[in-house]
Amino acid sequence: MDVNVNDELFASLMKDLYGSLPRQGPGSTDVTRKAFGMLGALQEQPKILDIGCGTGTQTMELASLTSGHVIGLDIFDWALEGLAQKVEQAGLIGRVHTIQQSMDAMEFPEHTFDLIWSEGALYIMGFENALKTCHKLLKPGGYLAASELSWFRDDPPAELREFWMTEYPDIKTVDDNLQLIADCGYEVLGHFHLPDETWWNSFYTPMLSLLPGLRDKYAGSPDALATLQESETEMELHRKYSAFYGYEFIVCRRSD
Ligand code: SAH
Repeated sequence: MDVNVNDELFASLMKDLYGSLPRQGPGSTDVTRKAFGMLGALQEQPKILDIGCGTGTQTMELASLTSGHVIGLDIFDWALEGLAQKVEQAGLIGRVHTIQQSMDAMEFPEHTFDLIWSEGALYIMGFENALKTCHKLLKPGGYLAASELSWFRDDPPAELREFWMTEYPDIKTVDDNLQLIADCGYEVLGHFHLPDETWWNSFYTPMLSLLPGLRDKYAGSPDALATLQESETEMELHRKYSAFYGYEFIVCRRSD
């Protein structure tokens, strides 16, 4: 998801394409719980930041797994409205907050959070940049848990490599990301591949069913049509080549 929030047409397309999906990226509640289970002990009321929270399915899960204060941060109002609705329905106003801000310009003081969470979003600010930024925002010994698009094998077919070199040129192998994490001052506590069905169940499959209607709605905009085509190409490549790449969930701790 490349974002230009100042472009109204683009913002409306993003809302139409992602806003009604159960999640805005690959993931599942089981995956969130599994990663959470890899953390060490947390404070009784931890301060938690969920970066690129989308409509907040995992944000709500974090609120139910802890008795902490959780902030969901996202750049889009429609995403945060989705989260705010869930918070209200769950009666968690006061414990879960939303902040509309770019992850590139987060304004929290250093050493604010016990846990920073981010599913399918840190690539937007660049993984290395995110690791460094989160290191400052975490309390000493605080945790970072994030899923990052990674090569699972180092021999991807040419058409797959070309696609991701355009979409996310910084994509690395899992081993290279683990090394980067260590170099940025974290100890890795655990990591795992997201199961392939987490790409489809709450993300690609519902998105696929939206494409024909959106092609009609945006028929007059070549840029919008190109974005829709890109999403479809991404899904086709995933269907063929999911053994070669995917999201790696990595759970680590600021080593102090
Ligand atoms: N974590 C959610 C959403 C992942 S998709 C989930 O797993 O379902 C990536 C999210 O990042 C989207 O909700 C998108 O709106 C948000 N996003 C994109 N650019 C951003 C930016 N610059 N700052 C903050 N959030 C951003």
